[in-house]
Amino acid sequence: MGSLGNGETELQAAERRIGKIQRCGAARLANLEQSYLSILQAIGEDPEREGLARTPGRAARAFEFLTEGYRQSLDEIVNDAIFESEASEIVLVKDIELYSMCEHHMLPFIGKAHVAYIPHGKVIGLSKVARIVDMFARRLQTQENLTMQIADALMRSLHPRGVGVVVEAKHLCMMMRGVEKQNSEMTTSCLLGSFKEDARTRSEFLALLKE
Ligand SMILES: [Zn+2]
Repeated sequence: MGSLGNGETELQAAERRIGKIQRCGAARLANLEQSYLSILQAIGEDPEREGLARTPGRAARAFEFLTEGYRQSLDEIVNDAIFESEASEIVLVKDIELYSMCEHHMLPFIGKAHVAYIPHGKVIGLSKVARIVDMFARRLQTQENLTMQIADALMRSLHPRGVGVVVEAKHLCMMMRGVEKQNSEMTTSCLLGSFKEDARTRSEFLALLKE
């Protein structure tokens, strides 16, 4: 197990992050646990066998984490992280890791988000952009809606001149079931304001993505 240099192992760091989430409450967690037990029974497994005995509880906690976005709000996340700025060039946050779940199969889609905007008096802390991505990704999603929601959130909180969001993701519902393999990596984009209206801004954005 690797150390992160501050005396904390990667596992401990992961546990610390998981420990900080907005919990869904005991009643919902118990409901999730019961549901996972039903799934084990429905597939003909023996939920009592050693390897599975604590699985419904563990799976419930994992699902609680993966759906944390339902319990978060944009205001909470951007709070205190918006600053006055004279900047007027494209701000791009590239290669934000993205883990979400498709709402059609409740299976993961994973990839990267690239988020850009042109400030109009205000900028936002870079780490907050990744947190906005996480908030929408930790819900049941379609990739198209996720892409639009990220763009719309930046538009609402910063009122920038424009926003461009590109999401590239692989969908396990396709890959694991062996369907439409050639389309398993999908790219979606949402361009708003100057990214939509100004061809020069758009091509500058696309050029930055290729660097
Ligand atoms: Zn799917």
